[in-house]
Amino acid sequence: MFAGEFCETGNAEYNIDMSMAHFLFHGRLNYFLSREQRGGEININFQGRQSVKHLAESLGVPHPEIGRVQVNGREEALGYITEDEDIVHIHPIENGCPIEPRFLLDCHLERLNAHLRMLGFDCLYENNYDDLPMAKIAASEERILLTRDRRLLMRKMIVHGYCLRSLDPLEQVTEVIQRFELVRKIKPFHRCLRCNHTLQAVDKDAILERIEPLTKQYFDSFHICPACGQIYWKGSHYERMQNLVENIRKAHDACI
Ligand SMILES: [Zn+2]
Repeated sequence: MFAGEFCETGNAEYNIDMSMAHFLFHGRLNYFLSREQRGGEININFQGRQSVKHLAESLGVPHPEIGRVQVNGREEALGYITEDEDIVHIHPIENGCPIEPRFLLDCHLERLNAHLRMLGFDCLYENNYDDLPMAKIAASEERILLTRDRRLLMRKMIVHGYCLRSLDPLEQVTEVIQRFELVRKIKPFHRCLRCNHTLQAVDKDAILERIEPLTKQYFDSFHICPACGQIYWKGSHYERMQNLVENIRKAHDACI
């Protein structure tokens, strides 16, 4: 199903122009392989000049998920041109975030977008982005692409990205926090959930006419989005946010 001049085989005949390499994928990269391929050596027949990146992606493993590559015991770059009988070990990219944690989410991730904004992260999300414009935005704005579509992650211009494993938005947010090591960067009450702009504190007096009597009575501290005018206070949003942060920290602590 993936593009490329290759075929995978255990015992197929191959002609004199065909080369064979032996690929081993480690750790969480096994997620991308078929059940039979996981944990073992995969023999790939190929013709001509084929990079490790191309052959790995032909097996369904997107390049932004790949970290160290070792060929016959040597460290090599992902662009290394594979040779006949090479033994290629491919490791997952290490957790951490080499750039500002700013995200671009594909159109299926509306709830993840809301959760990440709630935690204070800069997230770009539109429900009508097509693949090519998304890839271009991710590249030009240096954003981390979050998607469950591995073909989108395989686009050449994507540098930073992550394929969400879970379908559940709360599990997805935990995945993102762990993969990019963001626990210490969580800043609740920092960003507008509607438009992603950063919030500003605002005097209660300045917004008195816009809030309900009960809110007026029980809350004194308010924030406003200078872009869209949405007002925030530590009511129900805040409780949801606190619960989310607590659950994420628990999940994080359980993993270290
Ligand atoms: Zn806003």
